Amino acid sequence: MTITVKKNLVSEAKYALKCPNHMDAEYITIHNTANDASAANEISYMIGNTSSTSFHFAVDDKEVRQGIPTNRNAWHTGDGKYGTGNRKSIGVEICYSKSGGAKYKAAEKLAIKFVAQLLKERGWGIDRVRKHQDWNGKYCPHRILSEGRWNEVKAAIEKELKALGGKTSSPSGSSSGSTYTVKKGDTLSDIAKAKGVSMANLQKWNNIKDPNKIKVGQILKLKGSSSSSSTKSSSKKSSYALPSGVIKVTSPMTKGTNVRQVQNALAALYFYPDKGAKNNGIDGVYGPKTANAVKRFQSVSGLTADGIYGSKTKAKIEEKLK
Ligand SMILES: [Zn+2]
Repeated sequence: MTITVKKNLVSEAKYALKCPNHMDAEYITIHNTANDASAANEISYMIGNTSSTSFHFAVDDKEVRQGIPTNRNAWHTGDGKYGTGNRKSIGVEICYSKSGGAKYKAAEKLAIKFVAQLLKERGWGIDRVRKHQDWNGKYCPHRILSEGRWNEVKAAIEKELKALGGKTSSPSGSSSGSTYTVKKGDTLSDIAKAKGVSMANLQKWNNIKDPNKIKVGQILKLKGSSSSSSTKSSSKKSSYALPSGVIKVTSPMTKGTNVRQVQNALAALYFYPDKGAKNNGIDGVYGPKTANAVKRFQSVSGLTADGIYGSKTKAKIEEKLK
């Protein structure tokens, strides 16, 4: 049965504040409201207030309400002006998470069905579903996380999706779906994200030296052969050599291979780039976008989030690339 969405869309006069950019969504992000308000109240409050914070849908125990059109971006993932979460994902808030209980349970149940419906409509698999935490490290959806049920929620969405006759995802462990044909506009980091594999592995399995040079129609392996996957780790580090020293935004801006190395490594960890930009923004220039990516990486890695690349950030990036 199709879930009907009740729309209470933000006025166009507030687009500049709430949803300034056109969006071609690629992901769905799940949140908990950390509140005890109904979906109708969450949406009317969100579209009426003067804060830029916004999200597309709120789901409670009875209904789904929409406040932002799905072809506009919303500010819900805290990963910055150019963040993939903010610019490429549809935000779904699950209501009544503050107190939990039966009303929350029912809201979560409806949200699971609704997210499955969104996936089905778009021909997407479960691999397009993210939690808010994935984008900027925020502890959200807090109730699902604190109850240790994220995988359970994802499995429930996948089950609903199958019941709707939707696409299943292509987990790296399955024998089918072990290749991917590159489509127009794809970037290697998109493919890695969508398929749930690391960019470093994707490069290794397909012998790709330059991640910016993939061709439309190229068939990529999504798995390594069993012999090669057990003997890795060294190649990864060498393909992401990182510079020493301090790099920060200066005037004129620092440019060069060292900056490019930082950008490539951050891209492999999904903190870069700006996907709208040429070459995914891997331009070898340490400007505000790179500093912002460094900042986001630092903030989820327990470092001082100052956007300045130095030895501590280098060590953390190396640790995460292992
Ligand atoms: Zn959230």
